[in-house]
Amino acid sequence: MQSTPIRYLKGVGPKKEKSLNRLGIHTIRDLLYYFPFRYQDRRHPRRISELEVNEPALIKGKIMTRRFTKIPYFIRSRKIKSIFEVILEDGSGKIRCVWFNQGYLADVIGVGQEIILYGKLAHSKGKFQFVVQEYELIEEKDSLNLDRIVGIYSLTASLSQKFMRKIIYSALADCKKNISDHLPFYIRKEKAIPNIARSLEGIHFPNDWQEAEQARGRFIFEELFYSQILVYLRKSQHRSQKGVAFPSKSHTLRKIRENLAFRLTSSQEEALAKILSDLEKSYPMHRLLQGDVGCGKTAVSAFAIGVCVDCGWQAALMVPTEVLAYQHCQTLKEVFRGFNWNIEVLVSSLPEKRMQKIYREMRNGKVHIVVGTHALIQEQIEFQKLGLVIIDEQHKFGVGQRALLPKKGKTAPHCLVMSATPIPRSLALSLYGDLDLSVIKELPPGRIAPHTMWLREERRQWVYDFLRERLQEGRQVYIIYPVIEESQEEDLQSLEQMCEVLTEEFVPFRVGTFHGRMRAKEKLDVVKAFREKKIDILVATTVVEVGVNIENATAMVVENPERFGLAQLHQLRGRIQRSLYQPHYILISKENLSQKALERLRIISQVSDGFNIAEEDLKMRGPGDFFGFSQHGFPQLRIADPLRDLEMLKQARLFAYRVIKSDPDIARPAHRCIKDHLDFWFQR
Ligand code: ADP
Ligand code: MG
Repeated sequence: MQSTPIRYLKGVGPKKEKSLNRLGIHTIRDLLYYFPFRYQDRRHPRRISELEVNEPALIKGKIMTRRFTKIPYFIRSRKIKSIFEVILEDGSGKIRCVWFNQGYLADVIGVGQEIILYGKLAHSKGKFQFVVQEYELIEEKDSLNLDRIVGIYSLTASLSQKFMRKIIYSALADCKKNISDHLPFYIRKEKAIPNIARSLEGIHFPNDWQEAEQARGRFIFEELFYSQILVYLRKSQHRSQKGVAFPSKSHTLRKIRENLAFRLTSSQEEALAKILSDLEKSYPMHRLLQGDVGCGKTAVSAFAIGVCVDCGWQAALMVPTEVLAYQHCQTLKEVFRGFNWNIEVLVSSLPEKRMQKIYREMRNGKVHIVVGTHALIQEQIEFQKLGLVIIDEQHKFGVGQRALLPKKGKTAPHCLVMSATPIPRSLALSLYGDLDLSVIKELPPGRIAPHTMWLREERRQWVYDFLRERLQEGRQVYIIYPVIEESQEEDLQSLEQMCEVLTEEFVPFRVGTFHGRMRAKEKLDVVKAFREKKIDILVATTVVEVGVNIENATAMVVENPERFGLAQLHQLRGRIQRSLYQPHYILISKENLSQKALERLRIISQVSDGFNIAEEDLKMRGPGDFFGFSQHGFPQLRIADPLRDLEMLKQARLFAYRVIKSDPDIARPAHRCIKDHLDFWFQR
């Protein structure tokens, strides 16, 4: 019954079915789980005589007269093209009610009809009018839409709130008796949660606020509970894998330390200690290493690589860009000076012959360490003895891609994933709870916080003068150009033009460009030239965002920063926080920015800590958007918000832990409903 396609429901024809599908509603169950995003209290409509100006209110009455007026374009103001107005009467008084630009209402709303309106009383030029936001016609004996708290659903065209309530009501009536509950009885009892039918009624058609609240609480819990069940299932899967233990030898670690140009920070040491102890276990490591841009994750991961190769196994490091692959390879070659290990780069732009040679050497074990891009997860890739997998900038890869690399080994390798997108611990737990978490909290000593300036276009000349001074001091400069679609010719053309303008402006300094459409070889050449100071100003797209590490580049200008998200702006800023000179981060924005863009720019200019930025970002965007849950292989969260519902998340986590701990295979009869639901979900 619950998996019955939605079209079998009375009143759902092909057109409505399509609209419902667009909302992700395909079956009766989907429909029942399509929750209102807010409620409206229709129990006590305001009397017309008691309306107050500017206060949102609900009124109910009979339509006395109506009129539709088109406004000729030459006297139009405020984009109002037409007005539909009615006089409404409710026994206490009369009021003129207006809708703007909704001419079709003339066919829908007629004199003599009873109607319920939600909106605000406005007062202008000595006249009162009620500006309508929502309306609903009243039919006789209407118990779903009137005199009660009603749910408001987010809908697409051709669906109305009333229609939605009607089909949900009848679906609920049809399968109320035999709808399966996803939560085990004993958990419901312990948490005093009503059963599924009551909860569904409560969330769609609550009798009072308390009932609505309780029902919402149940479904929030349910969602979080299942996300945590999945987390624990994955974790126990990890634990049941057989791996190879890599004990670390102290002289190897010492040699690596000697080769490093610096001492690890205590935060790095802490993370390293955890990783080394993971490697000594006989089941594979699954650890997430988080830390703000530039905190030094690479060095920490190098130790893990060292320990693995020292034990006679191979290590693979996957990164999102070719430039980064070469850069990491260079770093590793320095770190492993004198070890006599064979370190190779594997990227898709390599000549075929060289590629085949590396494939062979990966297979016969001649390559000890391979640093590569997606090229590492191609089908023909095989390792002789893959012992360690490291995924850098993991948020740039999909779940599927991340899962592929470890499968290249014959035994399950140790896995370390690294991310510079810090997220609050609560969210980290719910997203990556199957991974152990290490956080590097501090930046290496001596780093100077970038000075962030947010300026308007008219200060451009000042900015150029400022940059010239930095160039004369011997520093280098990035200019980030917002090319959104790297495929768009026009965008790239304007980047080239920018480059010409800057070349003229900054004679005798040399200007280079760097963007995603360049061939791999060109990109490498440009980065090399920039590194060797043969280029002073690099005009680039956001492809420099990930990992490029050039210490002498201490100023960055971002053009049209309003086009970027917070996380991206922060990553970009991380590029210049690499040396002992004061870094300058300059945003040149346009006029007339949206409220959200203004807010983002305000945050980026005031907040420098990556964790705080992530938290602000979350607040602005909501977790669903921030980190598409489904991207992590979880079902979409529709109603829960791990940040807001942190307490609930903790409880859900506890219950899920108890379930998996007591019944690892979810085989007990009491957990039957969990098993069924998971099976259903995995099938989908
Ligand atoms: P991220 O964590 O963003 O990947 P990297 O590993 O690229 O950062 O390190 C950034 C820079 O900091 C590199 O140039 C690296 O050599 C340097 N670095 C890393 N750890 C330290 C440290 N403990 N002291 C000084 N410099 C360090
Ligand atoms: Mg890095």
